[in-house]
Amino acid sequence: MRIVALAGGIGGARFLRGLKDVVAPGDEITVIGNTGDDIHLFGLKVCPDLDTVMYTLGGGIHEEQGWGRAGESFAVKEELAAYGVGPSWFGLGDKDFATHIVRTQMLAAGYPLSAVTEALCDRWQPGVRLLPMSDDRVETHVRITDDQGTRAIHFQEYWVKLHAAVDAEAIIPVGADTAKPAPGVLEAIGAADLILFPPSNPVVSIGTILAVPGIREAVAAAGAPVVGLSPIIGGAPVRGMADKVLAAVGVEASASAVALHYGADLVDGWLVDVADAGSVAEVEAAGISCRAVPLLMTDPAATAAMARAALELAEQVRG
Ligand code: GDP
Ligand code: CA
Repeated sequence: MRIVALAGGIGGARFLRGLKDVVAPGDEITVIGNTGDDIHLFGLKVCPDLDTVMYTLGGGIHEEQGWGRAGESFAVKEELAAYGVGPSWFGLGDKDFATHIVRTQMLAAGYPLSAVTEALCDRWQPGVRLLPMSDDRVETHVRITDDQGTRAIHFQEYWVKLHAAVDAEAIIPVGADTAKPAPGVLEAIGAADLILFPPSNPVVSIGTILAVPGIREAVAAAGAPVVGLSPIIGGAPVRGMADKVLAAVGVEASASAVALHYGADLVDGWLVDVADAGSVAEVEAAGISCRAVPLLMTDPAATAAMARAALELAEQVRG
């Protein structure tokens, strides 16, 4: 079976680890990763979501934190700070720096991001084929209004520096409208037997991937069932601040509203948490098959059970 998953960072990566635990030997997983979170720092190209997937599946992730490397030190960051060179709000550890140096060096030598990602994965062996959504530069910006007036800031500045404390007025994936899907992306979607939307952020992770012209259309036209898992449980994101960016696109932070936001033309099946069993009927009324199962990724077994439930729902919608 050929499985394609669209993925952001932590939510996507953790789910993918569960998925790997339950697929049959020989099944192939292709991950289309969000690159709208990418940022240039200290002259380096940083791809937070691709790296979170790569480190999580490759065994290098800082488990409790969910991003960055395990056993990090911060000598480079401290030295930069001693020179007065920031930003200080983005936590890059020494080991992580090496990844960004290799990536930036390869990009400068002319390799596209997809080839660079493949080279980095040679080391990490994530057990999936990890493709960036695009080789073209896309950067999500957020429009806010604060004491400095109305302005657009980089998504990372909004999320990491400001902790989404101000309301997001608009989410703009700068560059997405002219970006092309990376090599292999449309082919993987077209050849898939199953397409999954992990419990990733529906706006700034999966929404950004779908904003690359051709990707949404390919998913909608795919012959394979498309099954998603709600990142919202009981009206709140389990972790993170997804409610802030949902509000910016006029979507309520609820499991059913996210399903309807994707819509029946995109997803065939939707899993909500047992806490949201009351919204199953509403989702089904919109033409999306829906089941309520535990959706908290508390440990590998719970996450694997979520992946199994997604595979089962896919079989049911396949009919
Ligand atoms: P990011 O790029 O690191 O923010 O990661 P993603 O976009 O892949 O996933 C973030 C989303 O994962 C958040 O919006 C959360 O709502 C969701 N999430 C995190 N942990 C869990 C969990 O245990 N269960 C579910 N259902 N969603 C989760
Ligand atoms: Ca992200």
